[in-house]
Amino acid sequence: MVRERSEALYERACALMPGGVNSPVRAFRGVGGTPVFVRRASGALIEDEDGHSYIDYVASWGPMILGHAHPEVIAAVVDAAAGGTSFGAPTARENVFAERIIAMVPSVEKVRLVNSGTEATLSAIRLARGFTGRPKLLKFEGCYHGHGDSLLVDAGSGVATLGIPGTPGVLPEVARNTITLPFNDEGALEEAFARHGAELAAAIIEPVAGNMGCVPPRPGYLEALRRLCTVHGAVLIFDEVMTGFRVAPGGVQERVGVTPDLTTLGKIVGGGLPLAAYGGRRDIMDHIAPAGPVYQAGTLSGNPLAVAAGLRTLELLGEDPGLYVRLEETSSRLFRGLTEAAVEVGVSVTGHQVGAMFSLYFSDAEVWSFADAKASRTDLYATFFHGMLDRGVYLAPSAFEALFPGAAHTDAHVDRTIAAAREAFGDVLRAASAAG
Ligand SMILES: *Cc1c(COP(=O)(O)O)cnc(C)c1O
Repeated sequence: MVRERSEALYERACALMPGGVNSPVRAFRGVGGTPVFVRRASGALIEDEDGHSYIDYVASWGPMILGHAHPEVIAAVVDAAAGGTSFGAPTARENVFAERIIAMVPSVEKVRLVNSGTEATLSAIRLARGFTGRPKLLKFEGCYHGHGDSLLVDAGSGVATLGIPGTPGVLPEVARNTITLPFNDEGALEEAFARHGAELAAAIIEPVAGNMGCVPPRPGYLEALRRLCTVHGAVLIFDEVMTGFRVAPGGVQERVGVTPDLTTLGKIVGGGLPLAAYGGRRDIMDHIAPAGPVYQAGTLSGNPLAVAAGLRTLELLGEDPGLYVRLEETSSRLFRGLTEAAVEVGVSVTGHQVGAMFSLYFSDAEVWSFADAKASRTDLYATFFHGMLDRGVYLAPSAFEALFPGAAHTDAHVDRTIAAAREAFGDVLRAASAAG
């Protein structure tokens, strides 16, 4: 497939922006080739600058669960914009939105709006340190919590795709206060709390990981983490920026029944506009300024357009009682269909599906940790990715991301995707045998 305009635009972009992009994974470094420049999108489809159309499973990396340019979300944004785009003063709609978030997410008793998932996790960690008076942070390999300094140690997503081991610019003393454990290793958890428990301000985890591909917790793992945090007085933070409103209306915490002290939200909560949030126990949240001493602020926080988009999105998700059942069905039909197609063609894949997210790894062994994910054949993923792209299916340009089926994906989209995959797995089989 020829994408002349994308190629020309990318060449120009590279002279203007580092790597030609405003966020690293967009640059296709993980799969090779030239990024597709998107002109517009609607429902389950995106259209590139050369006029090609693709079934989209990236969904802007998660937010677009209702599909692109949902008419009611667009109407809410247009309506809000006509009344002014930013005031830097409280608005009535923020109350309605906060009420809605608190009603949907079990752990959230009070909430603060911010502008990105990164800002939400940074703020939640500062709050945990301010609340406990302790320095250390526990995190898990392959989880991604945005680009905050202490969070880039052994992180997933773009950090994993580009093979960056931590990153220059992060001070050693910051890294020293970050303890990183393998995901899904309960023994390592017990050991870390025994050693560092008294110094731990917080543990932060993706309760279903989505940034090393989709890796669910083993049974009992989140329960063990919850128990250890309670015993040692550390704040448990669930980073549900990706899973919130996706795997269930109230996120993983609703699905598995484990309640964290603080929750970070992003992506879907902003309905496709720059908005994120953190919230949780009232006694902890009341340490945030101006109620308490831990400072956190934002000129554009609670922006009227973003709140309008987020609120309408959450309303639509809440109003349709069958929606999450349908999302689960679409997701599992696609996951099963792709897995079966791989088996038919003779390609080894493995993976997990949780609600409206799943991923496939080219591997013979099951994936339960970042080490497992990294042991999969990312070179074969790159072949698969390009095979799908050339057949009109847009997947994440990285082996360490999930697919995000949404409400706009119909059975016909799913069938077309599986048919494309059958051919793309053929490409993979040829690449694998060529590689020996
Ligand atoms: C995307 C993501 C973030 C970062 O959010 P940004 O809005 O990109 O800053 C944090 N945590 C998780 C789990 C994410 O998936």
